[in-house]
Amino acid sequence: MLNIKDPNLEFLAFKSETIDSVVTTVAYCNLKLPTCPDCHSAHIWRNGYAPVKVRYLSSDASRPLMLKLAKQRIICRDCGQSAMAQTSLVDKYCSIANPVKRKILTSLRNDWSMTSIAAFTNVSVNTVQRVLEQYSSPFHDDDTWLPEHLAFDEFRGVGRKLHFIALDASTHQIVKILPTRYKQTIMTYFKHYPELVRRQVKTVSMDLNYYYAAMVKELFPNAQVVLDRFHIVQMLNRSFNACRIQVMKQYPKSSRSYRLLKYSWKLYLKPFDQLERKQPGYNWHLQDRLTQARLSQTG
Ligand SMILES: [Zn+2]
Repeated sequence: MLNIKDPNLEFLAFKSETIDSVVTTVAYCNLKLPTCPDCHSAHIWRNGYAPVKVRYLSSDASRPLMLKLAKQRIICRDCGQSAMAQTSLVDKYCSIANPVKRKILTSLRNDWSMTSIAAFTNVSVNTVQRVLEQYSSPFHDDDTWLPEHLAFDEFRGVGRKLHFIALDASTHQIVKILPTRYKQTIMTYFKHYPELVRRQVKTVSMDLNYYYAAMVKELFPNAQVVLDRFHIVQMLNRSFNACRIQVMKQYPKSSRSYRLLKYSWKLYLKPFDQLERKQPGYNWHLQDRLTQARLSQTG
């Protein structure tokens, strides 16, 4: 039922229990250790069980599932080593099962909030964050290296707050996510890299944010600021549309000028030589036959 295939795991009973005022299905099981993990001898003394609670995946999020594992302890009669049974289901000293962590990781690839992932995997938001930190960038705490080409941006995350993100612009690997985008946080984080490492950064790509550009000069003395083309195009589009609407509103709604500016807005964003210039089409808003090129020119 749980798709667990550990031959040393023996299920004893399933019970309904209230844990932290939530009705939870509890699976009682024994985890056996038939041989010594060091010398593989089956000549062992059994030395009792260590109880461990493990949160497991549940198909119904309103009804969490917990494994109450009794891990067998042994002492090897051949080599004298003492050992405790372990399973690939859960890491040592951890109370969250590995399938839960995998579920969290795969969920993080979708644009779901950490709060909703926490809710359907029955863990806290902190656990989701910890799993992300634990398995994200391998350069996480390596302060001897920074990519030559960095990219800065921000995104809305937990609690609708804006977070700061730094990427390797060539590989798109995450270098760091910071909880806020304030100057103090960003400066403190990058200052923990020695200046020699920071001098290796050649370019920093970003949107048209003067705020970041000033910081780059201070943090990465050899870096050039690269304005992201996407952000420039996006800003041009927005400004152009704002301008078009401003002009449009000077005309009465029933006028030809108003209609020209309102309904053909997509044509104005296209390169002129990509417009149809031979075949006129009937335009319902203008009640006229015009080619796209003519329409755009009149507009
Ligand atoms: Zn042994």
